[in-house]
Amino acid sequence: MERQISLVKDEALAALRGAQTSAELEAIRVKYLGKKGELTLLLRGMGKVPPEERPRLGKLVNEARDELERALGEAGRKLAALEEEQRLERERVDITLPGRRPPMGHKHPLTLVLEEIKHVFRGMGFDVVQGPEVETDYYNFEALNVPKFHPARDMQDTFYITDDILLRTQTSPVQARVMEQRKPPIRIIAPGKVYRRDADVTHSPMFHQVEGLAVDKHITFGDLKGVLKVFAEELFGKDTGMRFRPSYFPFTEPSAEVDISCVMCHGEGCRVCSHSGWLEILGAGMVHPRVLEMAGYDPEEVGGFAFGMGIERIAMLKYGVDDIRLFFENDARFLTQF
Ligand SMILES: [Zn+2]
Repeated sequence: MERQISLVKDEALAALRGAQTSAELEAIRVKYLGKKGELTLLLRGMGKVPPEERPRLGKLVNEARDELERALGEAGRKLAALEEEQRLERERVDITLPGRRPPMGHKHPLTLVLEEIKHVFRGMGFDVVQGPEVETDYYNFEALNVPKFHPARDMQDTFYITDDILLRTQTSPVQARVMEQRKPPIRIIAPGKVYRRDADVTHSPMFHQVEGLAVDKHITFGDLKGVLKVFAEELFGKDTGMRFRPSYFPFTEPSAEVDISCVMCHGEGCRVCSHSGWLEILGAGMVHPRVLEMAGYDPEEVGGFAFGMGIERIAMLKYGVDDIRLFFENDARFLTQF
């Protein structure tokens, strides 16, 4: 019995010295000190030992167990420290390496241009208002002095939903809606989506417009020119030239198309401006007396001006983009340039 105890103890301590991992240590613990471990079984076997031998042998087994536990503890601590060191080495991070930036989303070029447009007009006291994209024939046409038989309806290829309901072809119906609800003085811009049956490099079936309207006493064409001049200079630079060409819109009289000096060649003449030195950017005019009347205003009392522009057109000129479809294709290679 005595020999057996010392044999088991030596065997256990030898195994302990050879252990490389905490898992191996644990296996040794179970083998000798576990419920069915060899030392545990020796201790249980005391019952079969003659009573006079028990105290001495019991003491021996207990001492062997204590020694083994101590050795296990010590080896455990050493191995744990070693394994921690190896883990740190494995997971070493070189903090001098440049970080990996997560790709950041950013604003769409049309959003950027619209924000700039809003900023300029807010600075001149204009409110930003919105109207429905699904519109009635009345607001899209009739309230803007375009009755059913009017030839100007041919200028706009309309998406009709029913005979009376359509996708708005312009943001101008917001003018009519605002005038119905408010009393002058009115100063608003109305940005939003509009729809026409048209698609090529410069036309998209859905595009964005900004409508502007001012109604008050003593509003003159000079006010319109002043407001648009500030707008053009803020968006395209202080040295931007501007000219008005007579034109026709049913809801303004007189009407004008407004050009700015070419942003590419500054008036010298180039491919973008068809060698004219000028670029058309918007339509404008004094609100037609009939439109004022339909809104319930007295054209003898108040007058106003209105203008409308395509946001894509402005963005194409500002950023030198030559295909409108690029704005809607969601190609990150294009969008990340802005
Ligand atoms: Zn040019």
